Amino acid sequence: MKNVIFISDIAYSTICFRKSFFNSYYRPRFPPDTREAIQGKELHRSLQDLFPDASFEVECQHELNGWVIKGKADIVTANAVYEYKFLKSLDSPVIPAYKIQAAAYSKSLGKSECYLVLVNRKNQESKKIPVKVDLYWKLFLKHASNLIEHLSTGKIPKQDCPRFFWACRNCIWRIICSELGLPHRRW
Ligand code: SF4
Repeated sequence: MKNVIFISDIAYSTICFRKSFFNSYYRPRFPPDTREAIQGKELHRSLQDLFPDASFEVECQHELNGWVIKGKADIVTANAVYEYKFLKSLDSPVIPAYKIQAAAYSKSLGKSECYLVLVNRKNQESKKIPVKVDLYWKLFLKHASNLIEHLSTGKIPKQDCPRFFWACRNCIWRIICSELGLPHRRW
C-alpha cells in the first residue's frame, strides 16, 4: 500500500509543522466522541436541509511525488466545495490553514468555487469566506512537498514550532518535543 497523508495534516503545517509530521508519521487514532466532535457532527447534520442537492463528507484523493493525499470535503455541490468549521471565535488565527484545506479539497474534486464557512459554536453566528483556490493550492503543494520530504527520510522537523503559542497546550506530542529538547511552548 502506498504511503498516505491527510489533507488536514498538511494544512496544519501552517500552525505547527512538527505536529503535522508526528501526526502523519505515527498516525495516532483520536477518540471520535469528544464534545466538539459530537457538536460538529450534529451541526453538520442540520446543514443537509440547507443543501438539499449536495453531497456530504465526500472523499477525495490525489497523488503527489508517489504519495497518496486524502481528505473528506464537508459539502460538495455541482460547482463548489463548502468547508464548515465550528469555532470559539470567527477571527481565529487558524483560518489560513482552513483555507489551504478547503482549496485542496476543491482542486482534488475539480471544483473551481470554494467557500469556508465559519460558525461560532456558542451563538451560531456565521461568516462565509470565498477561498482563492489557486493561491491556496500553491501553498498547499509547498507544505505537502515539505512534509513528504521529512516523512520520506524520517527526519523530525527541528525548526522553531509552533507558530501560535496555544498549539502546544493540548498537543499529544508535547512530551516528545520536551524529551528531545525541541523548541516548543511550555504550559
Ligand atoms: S508540542 Fe507544540 S511544538 Fe511540539 S508538536 Fe505539539 S504543537 Fe508542535
